[in-house]
Amino acid sequence: MPKEQSFAQRLIAWQQVAGRHDLPWQGSRDPYRVWLSEIMLQQTQVTTVIPYYQRFLASFPDVAVLAAAPIERVVEHWAGLGYYARARNLHRCAQQIVAVHGGFFPKTAAELAELPGIGPSTAAAIAAFSFGERAAILDGNVKRVLCRVFGISGFPGATAIDRKLWQLAEALLPENGIEAYTQGLMDLGATLCTRGTPHCPACPFADNCVARRDGRQKELPEPRPRAAIPERTSTFVLITDGTHLLLERRPASGIWGGLLVPPEGDPETVLAARGLTAVDCRKLPDLKHVFTHFRLTLQPVLCRVAPPTSVGEPGSEWLALNKAADAGVPTPIGKLIRLVASAPD
Ligand code: SF4
Repeated sequence: MPKEQSFAQRLIAWQQVAGRHDLPWQGSRDPYRVWLSEIMLQQTQVTTVIPYYQRFLASFPDVAVLAAAPIERVVEHWAGLGYYARARNLHRCAQQIVAVHGGFFPKTAAELAELPGIGPSTAAAIAAFSFGERAAILDGNVKRVLCRVFGISGFPGATAIDRKLWQLAEALLPENGIEAYTQGLMDLGATLCTRGTPHCPACPFADNCVARRDGRQKELPEPRPRAAIPERTSTFVLITDGTHLLLERRPASGIWGGLLVPPEGDPETVLAARGLTAVDCRKLPDLKHVFTHFRLTLQPVLCRVAPPTSVGEPGSEWLALNKAADAGVPTPIGKLIRLVASAPD
């Protein structure tokens, strides 16, 4: 793991020779321009943003003009950039700056983060580029770089990991050169340490990046964990007279809608509800089945009843045991039926 100070030094040195220096919003400390570019760059690539930024600036050259413009005009200039809440927040933010701050942007990240549409990372970027504040940025690109360089496992959106990353981002800040450092983090994430295949040989951290050392570039940062699939358990009562099996048609909606399935529930209750008396009941091995949204454990109970069983309730069918598995039953039920059909008495 790199020493904290050397991380910043390396990054600044790399940014100065290999980083981006000619973007239209660079070279200006005007917080209006910095803010506009930072908002446009959220979720949008630099090459897409450049023409929008230039057109927007030509129509709304400063925060007062933007605040006075009708929202429809602002949105028109945003058309095609996506995430339109950004345009509405931009307009609200401009109006707030004029109404509350006399037309001047607040100078600290903490105050900037109070404005509409400006999160902590964007606030830090504006404060660093416009006012030279030592403030840490932590957008998706930076999270990726830090997770890889320092080998941080866990989903970065999880509270504990997020807190750890903010602490790290703050601890890594350089004493001097915050603009080059902040730009370097952005440049590294956008040009080398990319999501798909990072260009490690050209990276300033190539010799001490944990992800590279361990070949974990594709694993880090870790994705959002998939929600645990709910587990359900249900008892299915396979009622047979030795040659037939009782199946019932499910209602059209719900799982296995319209298919034939053995009665479900407590065996005693199931038998009583159908006016049947069991000669004997025994449990069969459980069967697991995975649905899209849950996992079902089927607990089959085989109940023998005395014949005759030829008459069923509407929706009930006594099917020949050796044919029932092929009579429009769900896959796991077919497996259970085959088990019963082949089971010794
Ligand atoms: S060495 Fe590769 S994975 Fe590590 S920070 Fe650099 S580009 Fe990213």
